Amino acid sequence: MESLLELDFSRSEIDAETERLLSRLDAVHWNKDTCAIIAPITLEINRLKKEMNAIILAHSYQTADIIFGIADFAGDSLGLSREAANTDADTIIFCGVRFMAETAKILSPEKTILLPAPNAGCSLAESITAADVRKLKEDNPGVPVVCYVNTNADVKAESHACCTSGNAAEVVNAQPGDKVIFIPDMLMAKNLEAHVDKEIIAWDGTCIVHEEFSPGSIEAWRKFHPDLKVLAHLECDSDVVDISDMAGSTEGMVKYIKQSDATHFMLVTECGMSDRLRVEMGKDREFLGSCVLCPYMKQVELPIVLECMKSPREDQIVTLDEDIIRRAKTAIDQMMAH
Ligand code: SF4
Repeated sequence: MESLLELDFSRSEIDAETERLLSRLDAVHWNKDTCAIIAPITLEINRLKKEMNAIILAHSYQTADIIFGIADFAGDSLGLSREAANTDADTIIFCGVRFMAETAKILSPEKTILLPAPNAGCSLAESITAADVRKLKEDNPGVPVVCYVNTNADVKAESHACCTSGNAAEVVNAQPGDKVIFIPDMLMAKNLEAHVDKEIIAWDGTCIVHEEFSPGSIEAWRKFHPDLKVLAHLECDSDVVDISDMAGSTEGMVKYIKQSDATHFMLVTECGMSDRLRVEMGKDREFLGSCVLCPYMKQVELPIVLECMKSPREDQIVTLDEDIIRRAKTAIDQMMAH
């Protein structure tokens, strides 16, 4: 890693960048000294983006320095996929986990997709292989397979349709027949039951973050804040979803909060989401209580992003077989259409 002292910025450039960072990160308790330390790195990353005609896409579970320091767009899997499909940039740097970067490659195969943290996987994606899907299809002939976007590209290639947490019920209902194989999240499959008109055959994957939440902490926080609105991700257990005011995707949460008159919210999802909204929504709304870190998402750090942009290692450049891209694209097109 290049010494930060070797980055060639004037004192006034660093001071201005420090102030820019502080104006956003103050809401999540970053101080001026810490912003000053990262300022040369964010300056250099943002300079390199222009030089490379690159954009940085960041998932909402990334840390605030990534989202507000260097990202051009932050959002959920669907929003990131749409950005990846529509950008004119030559290179997409993906601050997130592998299946997301693979989805970007499927949607924009001609672009260079860089994944600064190549070992950032996902417990859901890793719970199922393409061979598992082939076996499910063999055991359930003619039943369509809907895969959650949190799957590897070769699993998507074996699926009929792909969905996100925001459109899972719609995509399942759009499939022919009265049964659907839904992979890989068994908790999401359970949560979908009330919203679909089909029998769901589920796989047994879980998200190691969302399976941690329980109704107890929600009930405890409600005692302190009777006006608390609880927003749960569909990857949570149905015990949690059933006592929440809203259940859905992280961008669904954003929409709900913007339309709500309430002031206190509990986001039952990865910690980064509350931090993102603490910055974006200001002091009028408070985000309380729930926080579990995703060890995969948190592998991305500013110095790693900078190093990857300057000199990407082979394992940081996302490549996929043409055949996998073509077949997975069919499934992803259904996700994008709903
Ligand atoms: S939060 Fe859960 S679903 Fe998201 S990347 Fe981490 S392990 Fe996977």
